[in-house]
Amino acid sequence: MVITENVPLAPLTTLKVGGPARYFLEAMSVAEVSEAVEFSRSRNLPLFVLGGGSNLVISDAGWPGLVLKIGITGINHRHGHDEVVFEVGAGEDWDKFVGMVVTHNIAGLECLSGIPGSVGATPVQNVGAYGEEVGNTIESVLVLDLRDRQLRELGKEECAFSYRTSIFNTSERGRYIILQVNYLLKHGGEAYIAYADLKKYFAGWNKKPTLADTRDAVKKIRAGKGMLIVPGDDDCRSAGSFFKNPILSADEYERLTARAAAKNLQIPSYPALATQKKVSAAWLVEHSGFSKGYGNGSVGISRKHALAIVNRGNATAADVVAFKEDIQGRVEEIWGILLEPEPVFVGF
Ligand SMILES: Cc1cc2nc3c(=O)[nH]c(=O)nc-3n(C[C@H](O)[C@H](O)[C@H](O)COP(=O)(O)OP(=O)(O)OC[C@H]3O[C@@H](n4cnc5c(N)ncnc54)[C@H](O)[C@@H]3O)c2cc1C
Repeated sequence: MVITENVPLAPLTTLKVGGPARYFLEAMSVAEVSEAVEFSRSRNLPLFVLGGGSNLVISDAGWPGLVLKIGITGINHRHGHDEVVFEVGAGEDWDKFVGMVVTHNIAGLECLSGIPGSVGATPVQNVGAYGEEVGNTIESVLVLDLRDRQLRELGKEECAFSYRTSIFNTSERGRYIILQVNYLLKHGGEAYIAYADLKKYFAGWNKKPTLADTRDAVKKIRAGKGMLIVPGDDDCRSAGSFFKNPILSADEYERLTARAAAKNLQIPSYPALATQKKVSAAWLVEHSGFSKGYGNGSVGISRKHALAIVNRGNATAADVVAFKEDIQGRVEEIWGILLEPEPVFVGF
């Protein structure tokens, strides 16, 4: 186990901002994770668990304690009748795993193609896209409980998955280190094509899209929105969508539509959003003066997606936070809604 000191964290994230980790270790096994936890405890160091760094804003001061990157790999599977359970090490690359599953004609994850990051982070915010969420297919999660340092297997129900949340980023934040995720998937199942973008992509096809066709389509659509990490594309130097789609009460929704009507605007209603009374955060941002491509300085809005704050080069975490607050302030002033950021803020 090699612990290094003063390791720059910005290169380990997709947004590329932030200072160094006082101590840094990549743990390749459960035993190394336990040793690292012991190291941080014995020195009273705060512990931060890092995956692929694709959902983070790291402060310019960095992290004063130990940053523990989870590097546990390995993929095993158990076959049922028409189902398969994949037991996947938390350090596996998420999209590599999705690609492997799709190649074997196994359904359930195809719409989650092209999302950066590690397998171990997927339960944290119940990663979702194009109508699929990992919470639908996760059977259980193997964790190290930092309260008593025991290994536990948490069933799907215990994880309490909901829109961009689970116990891991709400009630039990910081309590568990995820070591392995077990996904229950369907052999030979059909591709899930429910979202407008995907339906539009396949309109006019005279055959049913396969899982591989769907994965391909999702990646192309994502690339068009700067939501796929493409080397050389400045619009993907981001943490993905920066704000969650707000979920409103009936009263709040009514007030919002009244504000829109006063401006001769209509709140866009997509079936997938409307059923959960979710409003498009991207629409709110765009209709508050922050259009795609906004900003000439070190931070701005992606030219391809109104919801992505991009580091245009040399941005600091302070620049990102100031820009985020500017957007939140304007949206709240105009629409009466406080947007909640999606990324995790580390070391602030
Ligand atoms: C271009 C782009 C597109 C994106 N598109 C989507 C999308 O469509 N849908 C979506 O849901 N997200 C999306 N994201 C956000 C991000 O990719 C996901 O949240 C992803 O799951 C984060 O994985 P990570 O390994 O990079 O986690 P990190 O960013 O490293 O960490 C995120 C959080 O998870 C915790 N964590 C990580 N690993 C573990 C572990 N093993 N145990 C315990 N806690 C852990 C961290 O402590 C932190 O709190 C996108 C991001 C980018 C940059």
